[in-house]
Amino acid sequence: MRVTSYGAAGGVTGSKHLLEVNGHRILFDCGMFQGRREESDRRNRGLPFAPNELDAVVLTHAHIDHSGVMPVLTKQGYRGRVYMTPATRDLCAIMLLDSAHIQARDAEWLSKKNRSFVAPLYHPEDVQQLMKHVMSVPYDERFELLPGVHITFRDAGHVLGSAMVMVECRHNGAAKRFLFGGDLGRKNMPILRDPWEPEPADFMMMESTYGNRDHDPIETMEDKLAAVIENTHRRGGKIIVPSFALERAQEIIYVLKRLEKRNAIPPIPVYVDSPLTVNITEIFRLHPECFDTEIRTLMAEAGDPFQLKQIEYVRNVEDSMELNALRKPAIIISASGMCETGRILHHLRNNCEDDRNTILIVGFQAKNTLGRRIVEREREIKIFGIKCRLNAEVKIMNAFSAHAGRSELIGFAKKFKDRAERIFLVHGEDEALEALASGLRAEELSNVTIQKEGVPVEL
Ligand SMILES: [Zn+2]
Repeated sequence: MRVTSYGAAGGVTGSKHLLEVNGHRILFDCGMFQGRREESDRRNRGLPFAPNELDAVVLTHAHIDHSGVMPVLTKQGYRGRVYMTPATRDLCAIMLLDSAHIQARDAEWLSKKNRSFVAPLYHPEDVQQLMKHVMSVPYDERFELLPGVHITFRDAGHVLGSAMVMVECRHNGAAKRFLFGGDLGRKNMPILRDPWEPEPADFMMMESTYGNRDHDPIETMEDKLAAVIENTHRRGGKIIVPSFALERAQEIIYVLKRLEKRNAIPPIPVYVDSPLTVNITEIFRLHPECFDTEIRTLMAEAGDPFQLKQIEYVRNVEDSMELNALRKPAIIISASGMCETGRILHHLRNNCEDDRNTILIVGFQAKNTLGRRIVEREREIKIFGIKCRLNAEVKIMNAFSAHAGRSELIGFAKKFKDRAERIFLVHGEDEALEALASGLRAEELSNVTIQKEGVPVEL
């Protein structure tokens, strides 16, 4: 039995973990590496294992850094099945198509720049080909993945459809359990059920994104959002919300619905201006089986949780452009979440210089992104190559994070204290990994390993 991480080892993107047991080769996640263009391109095109030698592929959730290279698997010869939850399947069908369009745009740009043809990483047809291999399996249903190997998807509480995967197999005559944690969510988040209360396992692989810090408490989120809306509305301004298309946008809409229901905010039109976000919200409506009791109660009392008194889901470009002429208070939710591409750039360009407006940051902003420059409140920012003064108020709410914070990660790992032979840490920057490892050792979890990329670990 052996495990090798080929991505998200000493970093946060490109998740790929290979488990070899009893002659079977099982890949968990096949995510896109996202970083500097050349390195990303090289790593996403050249897989570090032969796809046709894999026996099964299991996906924890639809985020592109976990799923984005799956079409390359089938394109390069994988003929087996790809297992995931039903909600993850539906999300992948649209998110990977969106990714294929981005690949095409990037390739076109590169072809022009290099003056020689560069093919996209994959095409929409490759996504369709991959989807033919997908088999969806609901949460909590134990099934035989391969002879002698069973898996069960358990709720990870991270994004719609997200799962941890419990693998059960026999090794040297003994029954063994290996939990692949995927990305771990948080308790009491809007919409989703809490993460599964883990059962003991012999091996556990855990993410470490926020291994070195905690988030704001979720409980204050609703009131903070109400205060931002109230203040901006009073000034006659607009609220611009750069948001990830999956989960974050739906959470904000749902929290707005709750505020509207208890008359805690003034009447204000909301525009969701991102075709991908609009499509993903449709998928949410199809999967209430993933919802917690709080949102179910609201649905029983107030109907569709993503329908407000004044909300417009904007798909086409003309309607999006009309928003430029808005002169009254409004909330505009748009993508991308880190303000690097997409329609959010137009809204920031049109609204950042007016001090009545608010830019509301609700997600992680990586270094060297426009989002980070806004968080750091630089006085001048460049959008489409044009310098603009950042006069709008900048508000930051980090309670919305979909990842467990440090205390939650440590609390989760402690459940494995009595049985786990080994805990593997992946999916974190170096500082986060080190801080989490020492935090776990302080809790007397001595068998902690920080996974190194491409280095097999014998179990
Ligand atoms: Zn994720």
